Amino acid sequence: MSVEKTLSIIKPDAVGDNNVGKILQRFEDKNLEIVASKMIRLSKEKAEGFYSIHKDKPFFNSLVKFMTSGPVVVQVLKGDNAIMKNREIMGATNPAEANEGTIRKDFAKSIDENAVHGSDALETAKIEIEYFFENDEICERTK
Ligand code: ATP
Ligand code: MG
Repeated sequence: MSVEKTLSIIKPDAVGDNNVGKILQRFEDKNLEIVASKMIRLSKEKAEGFYSIHKDKPFFNSLVKFMTSGPVVVQVLKGDNAIMKNREIMGATNPAEANEGTIRKDFAKSIDENAVHGSDALETAKIEIEYFFENDEICERTK
């Protein structure tokens, strides 16, 4: 197993439901370190750029509208196998199909408002981290 970094977003539904702390706890409970974190309100342009891979999908406009509907919390998670580990902690895209004990099972309402985002591969993780964080915003542990 190798140490990786991945981008995580707590989406507007979960922030609005006051579940930020509970979701961050799930990451720490599985030995992922939060090495960067901030709350931001995405502009339309920033959300469109982030999800540009989906720009031709029928749900693209509603996805952008949702992602800009309230603040999000973005973080970089670091640890062994962090990318796939985070995807397992998150659960399936559609919360109706998510396993018991996953974030989406416990906190998401629907496939449109599904509580969290997580990078899906090494290359996308690198691009997505750079999309939100400068190098000097990533704080490696010293203790
Ligand atoms: P994310 O990229 O947000 O972590 P994901 O990787 O599990 O989610 P993707 O296929 O990348 O899923 O889709 C991005 C987002 O678009 C999903 O989180 C969801 O909110 C929305 N989405 C995906 N498929 C659908 C769909 N069939 N109907 C409505 N919204 C969808
Ligand atoms: Mg995705």
